Amino acid sequence: MATTDPSGAGQSRRDYQSVLNWIEKKIQPELTKGRVATYIPALARVPKSKFAMAVYGIDGSVAAIGDADEPFSIQSISKVFTLMMALRQMGTHLWQRVGREPSGNRFNSLVQLEYEKGIPRNPFINAGAHVVTDCVLAHEPKGRQAILQEMRLLAKNRKIYFDREVARSERETGHWNAAIAHFLKAHGNLRGDVDKVLDAYFHQCSIAMSCHDLARAGLFLANGGRDVGTGDAVTTAQRAKRINALMMTCGLYDAVGNFAFHVGIPAKSGVGGGILGIIPGVLTVAVWSPGLDGSGNSLAGVKALELFTTRIGKSVF
Ligand code: GLU
Repeated sequence: MATTDPSGAGQSRRDYQSVLNWIEKKIQPELTKGRVATYIPALARVPKSKFAMAVYGIDGSVAAIGDADEPFSIQSISKVFTLMMALRQMGTHLWQRVGREPSGNRFNSLVQLEYEKGIPRNPFINAGAHVVTDCVLAHEPKGRQAILQEMRLLAKNRKIYFDREVARSERETGHWNAAIAHFLKAHGNLRGDVDKVLDAYFHQCSIAMSCHDLARAGLFLANGGRDVGTGDAVTTAQRAKRINALMMTCGLYDAVGNFAFHVGIPAKSGVGGGILGIIPGVLTVAVWSPGLDGSGNSLAGVKALELFTTRIGKSVF
């Protein structure tokens, strides 16, 4: 691979493309190993053979492989973007209602929430995401539509949509989420109507986006909070840094340590098999492979990201 700059920051489109081409060959045996999420019936139908990756550099470089234009359910990756919205609306007041520590527990743990008196450990476990969504709704007259609009704006794609079937499927099977939301309400940490918060949460999880969309949408996090095209502030540099820090410490369910060890970048995964990774000051990388490992992260996706950061010689460490 021709490297134009040992820091990785100056690697050209062609360099990233050749790395992705190499990963596409290497990753094939991994695609059959994971298990597609079945607890949301609409997700269980997605073929395990799907694989895609897209890389967007803050210098304008773009590279992609596989089904990178095919929309998939972003699920928990949406939590990164609702967090950004809530911070924009509430600033540091948000942190009175949600913590910033890794949970070390299942993403939908009720036990921990009980011990901690209704203050979720972080914004990326389900309880934390419900609080964040409640905050967003409190400030957005358009309700859940505001979340979709934000994603369309950031990804520069007006066709991004709520997958109604996934949202319905989530609602029908979402007893655990409902329990968490009611528990938060009982503790006074959910201000809005429980059903409205759940409805918005299920819809944000159902947002269908491609790897191209996701990598574009996250680019402000690699660019100090600014839109790469216009230079406008999406969020402040400090908030971008903090969102990246939370992705690094809380973004991969109960496998953040291993992910930091092997991949070494802030990232957020979802049970739809997507992962969005950020290399601050350099690029975003989105990967999609629906087969999950035991922690609920895309099995081939994690492997592909490990190959990527290793091959380009770039991580946050
Ligand atoms: N809709 C999912 C749930 O709350 C999100 C899961 C995820 O991607 O972590 O169960």
